[in-house]
Amino acid sequence: MSRGRFPQFNAAAQSFLEAEIGPVGPSVSCGVGACNADAVFRVPWHSVGGDIAYCGYHLARYRAHHPELFERVQAAVEEDVTAHATRGARFLTFEEVPEQLFEEQFVAIALLASGHALYEEADPGELVAYRTVDRGLETQSSTEVARQHAGEFLQDVEHRLGVHAWSDDALAALYGGESA
Ligand SMILES: [Zn+2]
Repeated sequence: MSRGRFPQFNAAAQSFLEAEIGPVGPSVSCGVGACNADAVFRVPWHSVGGDIAYCGYHLARYRAHHPELFERVQAAVEEDVTAHATRGARFLTFEEVPEQLFEEQFVAIALLASGHALYEEADPGELVAYRTVDRGLETQSSTEVARQHAGEFLQDVEHRLGVHAWSDDALAALYGGESA
C-alpha cells in the first residue's frame, strides 16, 4: 500500500493544502454528503486543494470529470486506481442520461448522488409522476406527488438524496434561473 503526499497547484497554499492520497481504511464514509457508501480511495480535491475520500462510484465520477488529475494520481501511487473506480449501472454525468424515456412521457430532470437519473412526467394532471432509473434504464423507484407540492418534493430530494446535476428546466423551476 502506498500513501502519498500530492503537490497541489497553488504554491503559496501548498504548505497546508497538500493532499493525502491513497486507499482509505474501513469505516470512512464517502466524502459526498448524501452518499452512504464506504470510501475506497482518497484523491486530491480538484479546485481548492486538500483531498477527499470517495466510494467506487464517486471515484468513477471523479475520473470522468477530471481525467488529467486522475492520471496524475495514478502516476503517483502503486495501486491500480482505476480498479477502485466502480461505475456499476450508474450514470457518471447528466449528459449521458437520455433526455426522454417511457415513450417520451417522462423527461430527465436530475442526476442523483446515487448515480440514478430522476425523471418527471412531461404532461402531468393533478398528480406528477416521478421515476428513478439506473444506467440500464431499469426503473428503481416511482412515486406520485400532488402538483402543487412538486417543488417541495424536489427540494426534499435534493436535501435527502443529493443531486449532482439538475436539468436547466428543473433549475429554473426550482430556483428561478440556471446555475452559475
Ligand atoms: Zn460516494
